[in-house]
Amino acid sequence: MANVTTDIASNEPLQSTELDALVIGAGFAGLYQLLCLRDRLGLSVKALEAGGGVGGTWYWNRYPGARCDSESHVYWYTFSPELMREWEWSERYPGQPEIMRYLNFVADRFDLKRDIAFNTRVVAAHYDEAANRWRVRTEAGETYIAKFLITAVGCLSTANVPNFPGLKDFKGDWYHTGQWPHEGVDFTGKRVGMIGTGSTGIQAAPVIAAEAAHLTVFQRTANYSVPARNAPLTSKFQQYIKQNPGEIRSVTRETLNGMAFRIEPRLAVGTPPEDRERIYEAAWERGGLQFRAAFHDMMTDKAANDTAADFIKRKIRSIVKDPATAAILSDIDHPYAAKRPPIDTNYFETYNRDNVTLVDLRAAPIERISAAGVCTTQAEYPLDIIVFATGFDAMTGPMLRMDIRGREGVALKEVWEAGPRNYLGLQVAGFPNLFTVTGPGSPSVLCNMPVAIEQHADWIADCNRHLREKGLERIEAQPDAVDRWVAEVNEAANKTVLPMATHSWYLGANIPGKPRVFMPYAGGMVRYREICADVAARGYEGFALS
Ligand code: NAP
Repeated sequence: MANVTTDIASNEPLQSTELDALVIGAGFAGLYQLLCLRDRLGLSVKALEAGGGVGGTWYWNRYPGARCDSESHVYWYTFSPELMREWEWSERYPGQPEIMRYLNFVADRFDLKRDIAFNTRVVAAHYDEAANRWRVRTEAGETYIAKFLITAVGCLSTANVPNFPGLKDFKGDWYHTGQWPHEGVDFTGKRVGMIGTGSTGIQAAPVIAAEAAHLTVFQRTANYSVPARNAPLTSKFQQYIKQNPGEIRSVTRETLNGMAFRIEPRLAVGTPPEDRERIYEAAWERGGLQFRAAFHDMMTDKAANDTAADFIKRKIRSIVKDPATAAILSDIDHPYAAKRPPIDTNYFETYNRDNVTLVDLRAAPIERISAAGVCTTQAEYPLDIIVFATGFDAMTGPMLRMDIRGREGVALKEVWEAGPRNYLGLQVAGFPNLFTVTGPGSPSVLCNMPVAIEQHADWIADCNRHLREKGLERIEAQPDAVDRWVAEVNEAANKTVLPMATHSWYLGANIPGKPRVFMPYAGGMVRYREICADVAARGYEGFALS
């Protein structure tokens, strides 16, 4: 369907594509949203994707060691038992190439690619109130007109390369892990410097160290990590998955954050120290994010959390042989899991290699990048390659880099100037018919992502069906509902130890100048699902429908 319209920015007449709904992104979220709206509701829908293929975060994050830390049998779609039987995971945690194969398999299985425009980055989306349509413009200047606009742009898709003076003068090569070259990077014989020790750096360091002549890790904030204990899945477990898709789906809908494990009801505070030690030791041996499920009070009581933190710090000191390096690695200043907890394969062991050096940026921060390498206030480190494992402008970044304007041309940037404000993480007041999948204000990054994504995409599709059945054209979050929801998001965070990590990306603190607001909803996926269902059952309470 093409018609001639006026380009929102230049006033030039352009061919536009007119649709019922437009989805931005073709990762886990965009693919499923497209499927829901196109195949279940019969809407005319397209997805626009900046990358050259499906995959979203997994399309871009091809760095060495990239692997999911949700277990594979819960890191997938569960809307189709047939699909769950047709696909077979090979390892406990899926690696990036396997996830890409899976998402391509899904996209082909449901014939989704015919409705996705790849290499198509959205730069602007403006709401036309008179027409009740969103006018969307791409980098190449194409325009799309849609009644509903759904952003499925991911939470961690805007790479953060710190603004170090001198980077442009660096004579070697540099890469951000979230924009990794498709052809890979050959580290053989190279002096590599890696900045950042979040989940990404912790995954990449052992793999780079095994290949490079030398790896220098620049650590600003010491971090916890628990062994992943990755391994091939046994054929017995693969059979269990095929035979029990319903049970797997149910478990991910009953556990606090969409994982395969339940949080133990026991309390760390009050458990005798020798019993607690035994429980932590078993959790360490089992590995993975399940470590934080060892005690119920770990995330809500600082004293309980201290017991977990102390256990991991002792583990670090027992693994790392050089006492000075061990001291820097275990000098962790925040509660366990208050920043996103990494899991690893031989991360701390990597510091026992002869070709690995740790630099403590707390003692001597990076001053600049020189032609030869990284300069801290104390020394210059000559390098051939710099790897920026420095994270993302999380959650709001992917939304705010587009020029999104609602009623009366008001920019989302203005509305979110002091931090994100929305209702249920789904809609912003003043931006009718715009939905955000796993945006700030929703459990998103605190949940196993595919579980959060399926809930959002289903809710948005059901909402669309409701509007159609009632002959309605528009849905918009109400300002008082937004106020209440922002208060609820804050309250949920404040019941946990999460805000105590004052420099975490959950708070936007990793980006200079970004407002410090705890962004994800920390009340748990189960409660969130109930709230969203309840709102819908009450005729979309808190939204204005017209
Ligand atoms: P991150 O957690 O934000 O870590 C970034 C690292 O870079 C931190 O150590 C940070 O230090 C450091 N850094 C940032 N700016 C710096 C600067 N100017 N100077 C020195 N150091 C600087 O980013 P990430 O590791 O890419 O992970 C982001 C998120 O992606 C994770 O939390 C997780 O949700 C997701 N992820 C998941 C997986 C998985 O599923 N396995 C893997 C990778 C990533 P500070 O701590 O001091 O800020």
